[in-house]
Amino acid sequence: MICHKLKVIETMTEGYGLFNVYDDLVIQGVSIDSRTVKTHNLFIPIIRQLDGHDYVEEAISKGAIASLWQKDHPNPPVHLPLIFVDDCLKALQTLAANYRRELPIKVIGVTGSNGKTTTKDMINSVVQTKYRVHKTVGNLNSQIGVPLTILEIDKNSEVAVIEMGMSESGQIDRLSRIAQPDVAVITMIGVSHLLSLGSREEIAAAKLEIVNGLKDNGVLIYNGDEPLLTNGLNKIRAKKPLSAICFGEVNTNDYYVGTTQTNSEGSFFTVGEDKFYIPLLGTHNVSNALATIAVASIFGIGPAEVDAGFRNLKITGMRMEKVVSTSGFTIINDAWNASPNSMTAAIKTFEELTGYSRKFLVLGDMLELGEQEQEFHRDIGRNINPTKVDFIYTVGTLGKYIALEAEKSFHNSSVQAFLDKEELTNKLRNMLKQDDVILLKGSRGMQLETILQNLL
Ligand code: ATP
Ligand code: MG
Repeated sequence: MICHKLKVIETMTEGYGLFNVYDDLVIQGVSIDSRTVKTHNLFIPIIRQLDGHDYVEEAISKGAIASLWQKDHPNPPVHLPLIFVDDCLKALQTLAANYRRELPIKVIGVTGSNGKTTTKDMINSVVQTKYRVHKTVGNLNSQIGVPLTILEIDKNSEVAVIEMGMSESGQIDRLSRIAQPDVAVITMIGVSHLLSLGSREEIAAAKLEIVNGLKDNGVLIYNGDEPLLTNGLNKIRAKKPLSAICFGEVNTNDYYVGTTQTNSEGSFFTVGEDKFYIPLLGTHNVSNALATIAVASIFGIGPAEVDAGFRNLKITGMRMEKVVSTSGFTIINDAWNASPNSMTAAIKTFEELTGYSRKFLVLGDMLELGEQEQEFHRDIGRNINPTKVDFIYTVGTLGKYIALEAEKSFHNSSVQAFLDKEELTNKLRNMLKQDDVILLKGSRGMQLETILQNLL
């Protein structure tokens, strides 16, 4: 993690006003939360629902060495080591960008509408077979999370994999300029954030901003099945040269899948002569694996090591996570988030599952989809295969549109729309038997994992 004298931190944050007596104090790591601050940290008071400035004294009393202070904020405590900055969030980002410049490591940046965390976990696992990888845990992909992740990196790491998320254009540009990736990955383009971005073209353009911070000689790895990315890349290349590798289902891609075979735990697949296995369900995860294989090629990691990395995969929770209850039914917990693409991918995977007695889809609202939200839900309902799923239970005001369409091809008694999770949980409790399987999926805001907790 970052470790510097305060005088240096003042420069790295583009701050000012530190009293000379504090110049030689050394900070180790940063914190934005007084509840979890550690000794020797630099505290950075971010203004969100709460104002971090109200917690500066508490953070320092808990062991933080010093704090930033936004210049327009009244009453700075005079007796504490403070560095004044124009804007605390910007200062956090500037500090991270400057720290990144000091780090002699290779950074792999991962963006895309779906599959960022999964691909990040896969790349971690594979690159780890040959290099010291800074392990970034969880889903810290925001304007705050990315800088914090970078500031945690140790100087002796060789590679760091950084997830980059966005909700509007301009955000990936900023994150990429902070992380300065050597390799940039775009997993796929979906329709998440259609509400704020307007069109899929805009979404693709926003993801392609990841090349803006790419190092000279950096490489872009992208989903070549997506024409919007190919077109966007051509536009970029008209202005400057850019090395790129593409992956996808189509056999014109640099990396594409030959054959695939699935079992109840994962997929076997071939790429050219090479054979791989991922302990994860779903063709969408084979696509994430292809992106990982392309990354591995840049790092000189051969197919045997890649395969070993895949087999050791530890996936961040709630992504097609299989839980078997004591009474013998199985829940596939994919409740982390949902968008039309990821919902379709998860349902397709679920439809292909065999070896269970009855299959239940438990689906919640997909949020933030804008004007066409009803239609997106109806589409999902229309496309569920009645020969491959036994029951569909929805929850939420939008989820009901899934049920409305599904009712047209399913027996009435097999489809039911619930308004709240409690009612739905009670129904499941009465229905579920040994060897049944459930897929749980909905947007983060729906928190469908509470159904699982209550069922177990
Ligand atoms: P978030 O924006 O919430 O951070 P993410 O991009 O990190 O999401 P993951 O957490 O890896 O995505 O996966 C979330 C869900 O998206 C998975 O459970 C799966 O259903 C779906 N998914 C993952 N990869 C893909 C893909 N390549 N294409 C379509 N859907 C995918
Ligand atoms: Mg994620």
